[in-house]
Amino acid sequence: MTTSRSEAVRSSRQPSPLVPDRDCPLCPRLVAFREANRVREPLWHNAPVAPFGDLKARLLIVGLAPGMQGANRTGRPFTGDYAGDLLYATLLEYGFAKGSYQARPDDGLKLVGCRIANAVHCVPPQNKPLPVEITTCRQFLAANLATMPNLRAIVALGRIAHDSVLKPLNLKGSQAPFGHGAVHQAGRLKLYDSYHCSRYNTNTGVLTPDMFRSVFAKVKADLD
Ligand code: SF4
Repeated sequence: MTTSRSEAVRSSRQPSPLVPDRDCPLCPRLVAFREANRVREPLWHNAPVAPFGDLKARLLIVGLAPGMQGANRTGRPFTGDYAGDLLYATLLEYGFAKGSYQARPDDGLKLVGCRIANAVHCVPPQNKPLPVEITTCRQFLAANLATMPNLRAIVALGRIAHDSVLKPLNLKGSQAPFGHGAVHQAGRLKLYDSYHCSRYNTNTGVLTPDMFRSVFAKVKADLD
């Protein structure tokens, strides 16, 4: 990979805002799902979920999409479901967060040099966004990448998150195939792959907490 990060970000030329509008109309299937969820659960967030953490962070963590009972309910990424339990415990252990994670957006938890975003900002049915929805929503993720001046490391949680950051980084899949524990160079920036910290992956043994911790241990060592 010879393209520098700044060249990669410039070439993405994304004019999109960092956060989609609450009523973003771009994915008709997800809009219909969102509207149905608003009727069924009027007290839930039920809107695109904004990234969490400072734009000046050196680390960006990219997930798949809001979980129905997690971020879609609470409005903060990875907050309120099992994936958040493992992610925030790991971030606290490696100093990328401080405070106490209590699965509520008002728990006072702070991220330290770290920001969390999703490849897709609206909750998809069965947690499975369509390829066109992933492509459409990438503009917001790309805008975040282009607006983080100190960004040095990205942790992609799962293949969809990995694939979503390749284009903004000017990486091809053949240059940077997804694999748990893989590290890909994009100029001064490194992309670290991890299996997603979902309950399914941990229940089936695809991802153990130790495997997850090893990714963040590597990021921490590289950034320190
Ligand atoms: S997934 Fe992204 S692009 Fe699609 S409607 Fe939601 S915010 Fe808009």
